[in-house]
Amino acid sequence: MLKYSVRVLTAMLLFSVAVFCGDTPKNIIFMVGDGMGVHYVSASVLTMEDDQFTRFTTSGLSVTCSADALITDSAAGATAFAIAKRTNNGMISMLPDKTILKTVLELAEEKGYLTGVISTSSITHATPACFYAHVESRKMEYEIAEFLVDSGVEVAIGGGTKFFLPEGKGGERNDAKNIVATMKEKGYEYFDNVKELKEYSGDKKILSLLASNGLEKAHDRDYTLGELSSKAINRLSNGENGFFLMIEGSQIDWAGHANDQEYAMGELEDFNTALKAVLDFAEKDGNTLVIVTADHETGGMSIVEGNLDGSGMEMAFGTGHHTPVLVPIFSYGPGSEKMTGIKQNTDIGEYLRSFYK
Ligand SMILES: [Zn+2]
Repeated sequence: MLKYSVRVLTAMLLFSVAVFCGDTPKNIIFMVGDGMGVHYVSASVLTMEDDQFTRFTTSGLSVTCSADALITDSAAGATAFAIAKRTNNGMISMLPDKTILKTVLELAEEKGYLTGVISTSSITHATPACFYAHVESRKMEYEIAEFLVDSGVEVAIGGGTKFFLPEGKGGERNDAKNIVATMKEKGYEYFDNVKELKEYSGDKKILSLLASNGLEKAHDRDYTLGELSSKAINRLSNGENGFFLMIEGSQIDWAGHANDQEYAMGELEDFNTALKAVLDFAEKDGNTLVIVTADHETGGMSIVEGNLDGSGMEMAFGTGHHTPVLVPIFSYGPGSEKMTGIKQNTDIGEYLRSFYK
């Protein structure tokens, strides 16, 4: 009898250890291809030699609606990921009645995880803002910049000096506040160029603003989102704590709005460099959950022409705005098996938050 109980107890213990280790990743990297519907991913898979999407082991689809519209904007889209609730288009991580809920990044900070945000737009743009700020309108980028000061974020990389620096000092703030100086006082190391950012090997928090507003298009930049992602992962993974990192390829959306195939392909190539950096790390680490999705589709893009070898691909666009078509979810690593089937955008947020409750 005793022998039996010991055996049962041992089995239960082993089972719970297995479940715990299997489903609870140490690190989470959440990536958003803004506007990246299935056809954009198809363009990558069908034409790019170094496509990374095929490396994912799990896939699903997401419904992208907001609280007040079939067709979401990026603010409501990212709010669904950050607070797991739908809000009205334009609002940043608050409910339609302006109730503020903590974001997944704020919950991770509270639990002692290191956190980071990277985007190829201004770091105060709708998608990244939803992870650390709470405002009624995405247009309030000067206010959003102030939220970064006390966010606790260990790494913030993107564009947007105009929202951080006062007029006459390289920025466009007319309240004379210098948010960069304030963040330096709070212990941040500041970099306004990639060379110095890449050379930095210290353990201070990192603020890097690489453009006045959004970063240059990928084709016009001499650095990739992959390099920025590697830098952030390097800084965030050097401690005992796990980390939560949000990476956005912001300009896939802008290319969609512009109905510009060449622009879209450049941004997709750039997003692939980030996927490679992230998946290489996750493979080596073995304890990192990677989830990649989009907040909505942009441009009603479809592929209407092309050769079997991937050459001659032609995109056609149905609109200059967003569409409500389902977007893909890709995941890799411990816990990835949950992100299958058709999810609501808020389900993805709920799942991300479940690791920090
Ligand atoms: Zn858009």
